[in-house]
Amino acid sequence: MIQSLLTDGVVGRAVSSGLIRVGVHDLRDFTDDRHRSVDDVPYGGGPGMVLKPEPFFRAVAAIRREHGEPDVVALMSPQGRVLRHEQASALSGRSHVVLLCGRYEGVDERIHLALATEEISIGDYVLSGGELAAAVVVDTVARLVPGVVGDAKSVEQESFVDGLLDHPHYTRPPVFDGYEVPEVLRSGHHVEIQRWRRREALRRTQARRPDLLGQGPLDARRWSSKLKDEASRSSDREQADECD
Ligand code: SAM
Repeated sequence: MIQSLLTDGVVGRAVSSGLIRVGVHDLRDFTDDRHRSVDDVPYGGGPGMVLKPEPFFRAVAAIRREHGEPDVVALMSPQGRVLRHEQASALSGRSHVVLLCGRYEGVDERIHLALATEEISIGDYVLSGGELAAAVVVDTVARLVPGVVGDAKSVEQESFVDGLLDHPHYTRPPVFDGYEVPEVLRSGHHVEIQRWRRREALRRTQARRPDLLGQGPLDARRWSSKLKDEASRSSDREQADECD
């Protein structure tokens, strides 16, 4: 489940160029019975199986021996804090992160109590296992590691980075299926383009994710003063560019 992530695309390139290292560990390698069992029936009864604590504790001990103390041991769990840009950004600054993946009904509670330093959820829904969730964490954290995405600006200007959604993007042709690329984007006027992008980012954040704006929907006065600030910052920048 993890293999294509580590060989393809942005993460694949980061791995092959040595910018990040990702190890995948099979819990069955840390069992001591002949069936290599990693799960058992739940105390108290009920459906499904529970992942046993020993393989997790042994696996993390082996990682410690080989690679030193991890900065973070995160249990992938729908009950954890839902992953947001800020946490991904913080994780990208850590040098050694261990992600523990559950299956079945989940993991023995002792893993949460005594092994994990935090729990990460990727959203309010339940997956069959933690592997896809861990892959999501690896992907989003890796692209925030300096050098992984070729043009650092492309990471800096994405949704959530400055608390807003990204602005709309267009490429050729200028008209497609009756939809035209906004005139301003074809004008070559950089200040106007910046202003339009900022306004559209605010507009769509307001429409789609007002919660990101912190205090609910922006009222008209705050919005127009935000745009005015942005416009004056853009023209200051333009003047500075001209001086340069
Ligand atoms: N019984 C658990 C519950 O209701 O909270 C769900 C267990 S789930 C079927 C099996 C495993 O998938 C979990 O232990 C966790 O590792 C992973 N998982 C499922 N949903 C997830 C999510 N939204 N975020 C992160 N990991 C998740």
